[in-house]
Amino acid sequence: MNYISTRGAGIGERHTFSDILLGGLAKDGGLYLPGDYPQVSADELARWRALPYADLAFEILRKFSDDVPAEDLRELTRRTYTAQVYCNVRDEENAAQITPLKTLGVEEGTPLSLLELSNGPTLAFKDMAMQLLGNLFEYTLAKHGETLNILGATSGDTGSAAEYAMRGKKGIRVFMLSPHKKMSAFQTAQMYSLQDPNIFNIAIDGVFDDCQDIVKAVSNDHAFKAQQKIGTVNSINWARVVAQVVYYFKGYFAATKHNDERVSFTVPSGNFGNVCAGHIARMMGLPIEKLVVATNENDVLDEFFRTGIYRVRKSSETYHTSSPSMDISKASNFERFVFDLLGRDPKRVLQLFRDVEEKGGFDLQSSGDFARVQEFGFVSGRSSHDDRVETIRDVFQRYDIMIDTHTADGVKVAREHLQAGIPMIVLETAQPIKFGETIREALEREPERPAAFSGLEDLPQRFEVLPNDAQRVKDFVAAHTKT
Ligand SMILES: *Cc1c(COP(=O)(O)O)cnc(C)c1O
Repeated sequence: MNYISTRGAGIGERHTFSDILLGGLAKDGGLYLPGDYPQVSADELARWRALPYADLAFEILRKFSDDVPAEDLRELTRRTYTAQVYCNVRDEENAAQITPLKTLGVEEGTPLSLLELSNGPTLAFKDMAMQLLGNLFEYTLAKHGETLNILGATSGDTGSAAEYAMRGKKGIRVFMLSPHKKMSAFQTAQMYSLQDPNIFNIAIDGVFDDCQDIVKAVSNDHAFKAQQKIGTVNSINWARVVAQVVYYFKGYFAATKHNDERVSFTVPSGNFGNVCAGHIARMMGLPIEKLVVATNENDVLDEFFRTGIYRVRKSSETYHTSSPSMDISKASNFERFVFDLLGRDPKRVLQLFRDVEEKGGFDLQSSGDFARVQEFGFVSGRSSHDDRVETIRDVFQRYDIMIDTHTADGVKVAREHLQAGIPMIVLETAQPIKFGETIREALEREPERPAAFSGLEDLPQRFEVLPNDAQRVKDFVAAHTKT
């Protein structure tokens, strides 16, 4: 398997899975994709139906990482996808399935279900990929005798998923910046209660954007970055995307009896990482009818899939919503889909994303490329605060199931795209406890709390408060990377 950049650099060079695992962007600023999507044969699809999650993950990842010895990969997937790691299930008997499918009911002649992706340690779907990444990083670093210091900024989900994936891992330290006293009590406790010596929570006196600016400033100091072996785990990481392909197959098998049936997926979307994995599953040959992109008020993606115009937002135009993990101004993985949409023409991709930087967007309507979006199965919709409150209430009253705000955006938009006879699967991206305020508003009751999280807010917390100053963060990192 050879990887290429969406902007065309390194054509003719070889990049294996291990080569791109620890990096971010390609050196031309593009994103990595496989030179060709591996195809799944009818025989494979039939055989995979019965596999447990870990072995299905092995079969799929194997097709993208033929430079990793098979026995090592099998060991890594079996160690990652266990009922112990994904233990926060609401129905005990589902624990072994890792991503159980829960049918809400039949609406407009079609089964509407949730694929539970939030049973991992931080109760959000990011654990699905991040837990594997933790094990892959540790394995690869050990092989090359290297170490890595991960620097990131978070306002919630990504940072905690990264910390829980990397805690206790050999050769890895995590320095995670978060805005001091700006996260919910639950999210703060989730991160700051970690006592592992390789995890450093840095509370910055500032807002989330300040944290992000510090990470950018540190990353732009190339000498410091190289000397301190600084890396990231952001959503463009290829291994994260490919790990997410697995649950589209798992969800398909759970919703169908035979491999000639088709299903649709609705994906609560922000940076386009999750639904990009669905696109890849479809390109591999999984019988997916529609990929429904659901956004909140930050509707960059919905606007594109309705009009063909991609227009990134300024930070002043980016809303803080009650589904905060989808509050984005641009969708960092979107370039991967645009590459395929344009028939994999790197020159045009380069031009379009230059236009994004210089003019704030591009328009594929007038060029005629937009018509091809249908061939790829994409449709979209958006949801507002009122929609999500109404949907949380409706699903609870009708089906006695409590859903989180992001999943509610998914259910709201899924209902606008039901087709008789084609099962609709909404990806459940988080558990309600993470966004308790909106649950109380919608249901006038407390969100459900998985047993393992009782008393979380009372645990001792370990964090360092630093001023909004990149140099102080650099000093802190340097002082804690001496072994
Ligand atoms: C990250 C996240 C999303 C958005 O996923 P993308 O891959 O960025 O599109 C949706 N819901 C939750 C709960 C998340 O944490």
